[in-house]
Parts: sequence; structure tokens; C-alpha cells
Amino acid sequence: MALDGHVVNSVRFTHRARLIERPLRSGSAIVVRQDELFSSLRQRCRELGVVVHEETRTTSPIIDRGFLRGAACDDARELLAEYSVIADGANSTFGRALGTYRRRDLPYLVAVNGAWSSPSAHEPNISVALSLVRTDGRPLAGYGWVIPDGHGAVTAGVVVPSTVRDVESINLQQALVQMVTSVGHQWGLDADSPLELGRERRLPVGGSVGPILGPTFIVAGDAASTADPLSGIGVTGAVLSGMLAGDVVTHAVDEGASAPLQRYSTDLKAALGRRQRLGRIMLPVLGHPVGRYLLPCAAQSRIAADLLLRSTFDISLPNPLPQ
Ligand SMILES: Cc1cc2nc3c(=O)[nH]c(=O)nc-3n(C[C@H](O)[C@H](O)[C@H](O)COP(=O)(O)OP(=O)(O)OC[C@H]3O[C@@H](n4cnc5c(N)ncnc54)[C@H](O)[C@@H]3O)c2cc1C
Repeated sequence: MALDGHVVNSVRFTHRARLIERPLRSGSAIVVRQDELFSSLRQRCRELGVVVHEETRTTSPIIDRGFLRGAACDDARELLAEYSVIADGANSTFGRALGTYRRRDLPYLVAVNGAWSSPSAHEPNISVALSLVRTDGRPLAGYGWVIPDGHGAVTAGVVVPSTVRDVESINLQQALVQMVTSVGHQWGLDADSPLELGRERRLPVGGSVGPILGPTFIVAGDAASTADPLSGIGVTGAVLSGMLAGDVVTHAVDEGASAPLQRYSTDLKAALGRRQRLGRIMLPVLGHPVGRYLLPCAAQSRIAADLLLRSTFDISLPNPLPQ
């Protein structure tokens, strides 16, 4: 897929008054608006002969003798399929109807974002704020981001791991507005006047949801918790798992047998397993009261900033540092 976007060539880590800017490898990062990404994906699908039923919701799985054979839709149609890929997002009603569940002992992330108009939206860098605070001013584990869209607006958001003890009672929207207030001067933002403010959402990450395949179906994207556990970046894992799912389903159709589907788990583990294991170790550390002092180190030394870039963002920014 050829995608045009706003080119980003550096990341600025901030913690209170400290700021460290680190360059990215040329051409390694672009900002693409979600609607543009989706329409490009749909266009590419159509070019490949896929029929896209827009504005159609599936309401329930069609099960025949224990096998998923398609889906009933809200317009009374039934879409029948030999194999299905379930990619209905973090809530995954459809996936759960087929037996997927999130492991309660593994961490997830909570995130919220919003958009602000900005006179600096053409800037070629991203801000990562490492000094989130709670309503009462105490520091909060996690990080915030400001991403310019190149067309007069920025998206800002905050993400916090569930390993923070009282995560359910944190007002994340307030943490976001506070973060925008503290770094907004770099972007000319008025924290009190967002163009839009999203609601807080849970993001399953790091392979915490399973099972991710059945005899005639595959689960992909957030429905299979493919988002990166450290950064919360999810589009990469969603697209990657979709490609792997497409690959095994194609083989199953070609061979006239469902055996190739079994390869999906192994392929996904090979692609994401290292990050998933790292997340299971690091998220409890970051959520610990002492751990929240770790991330701010990245705003204090270049070595720490580069380490954070490699460890936290490596899925979306492969080999991000200048050679
Ligand atoms: C606040 C926030 C900010 C984020 N920011 C970023 C970011 O900047 N970069 C990044 O890479 N990731 C980001 N993520 C993560 C990213 O959004 C997800 O990981 C990614 O969108 C997962 O893609 P998906 O296709 O699996 O799920 P989704 O994007 O949720 O798509 C699922 C789709 O399925 C559809 N659907 C659901 N049920 C049905 C049904 N019954 N019938 C038909 N359709 C159905 C939904 O309408 C939706 O279109 C963010 C997450 C949050 C919560």
C-alpha cells in the first residue's frame, strides 16, 4: 500500500522543564490520519478483488455442528464462509461469543486521546511526555504523546498500564488535559479547547487474549490483543496479524483442509512473542510506585532516550536510530 503522510523525523522526550530530542532514521515514520489509512486499506482490498460490505454489522455467529460457518448481519443477511477472520476490536463481542477471553493475570493498558488545533502541526516531530500526573499532583506511570497531522491539528493522548494499583479510579481525561497544559506551549495548544476529546478505553495488549484460533476461524488485531504492550501502538500488530491470518486462510482454501490454520499461533508468536514477554516483565515494574521514576530518565540522557526509543517503540519504528 502506498501511503502519503506527514513525515516525522525526531522524537522529543519531555519531563517537566527537561527536553531531549532524538532523531529518527530518515523515512522511518509518517503520521497518517485514521480515516485515510482505512480508506487506503479498503481501496487496496478492492484492487485485490475483495468485496467490502460497508455499514454492515454482524450480529451473531452461525455455528453448524460446532464449526463457525459465517455470520448473521443486522440487515437480515447471512454471510456464509468456509473460514472467518475475527477482527472486531478490543471489545470483540464476536470473538467472545466464540470463546475468547482476556487473562485477568496479565496487564492491559488504558488510554484516551483527543485532537487540538495547532499552529505548529506542520512540525516534523512527535512529543513524548514522561511526566503524567494525577488530579492531586502525584506522579503517574505511563506516558503522553502529541502527534502533529501536518494539516493544522495534533492528536494528544495518554496511556497508563493496568499495573498501576488504582488504575480504575484514575481520571484519565484530566491527566490528558493536564499533559496538554504542560507541553502545549511547544505546540501552541489551548488545553481547554479540544476539537474533540475521546473517552477512556481499555486496550488489551501483549497476547493476553486467547484462544486466537478455532477449527474454522482466526482472531486478529485487538480482538487477539496484538497491540504492543509497552507503547500501546496497535495498528502495526493489527495489520501484521491480519496479513498472517490471510496467509494461513489462503493456504487452507488452496489445500482444501484447515490444517494450515494451526500455523497462525506459531507465526504470531514468532513475530510478537519477544515484545509480549518483555511487556509481561516491564509493565508490572513500570506500574510499581518506584517504577514510575524509570521512564522520566529518558528525558535526562541521550543514552536513556535512545534506549526507550528502541525498547518501547521498536515495533512501529524498526531500527529507528541513525546508522
Ligand atoms: C486512545 C487510543 C489511542 C490509540 N492510538 C494509537 C496510535 O496512535 N497508533 C497505533 O498504532 N495504535 C493506537 N491505538 C491502538 C489502536 O487503535 C488499535 O490497536 C488498533 O486500532 C487495532 O485495530 P483493529 O482493527 O484490531 O481494531 P479496531 O481498530 O477497533 O477495528 C475494529 C473494527 O471492527 C468493527 N466491528 C466491531 N464489531 C463489529 C461487528 N459486530 N460487525 C462489523 N464490524 C464490527 C468496528 O466498527 C471497527 O471498525 C490507540 C488505542 C487507543 C485506545
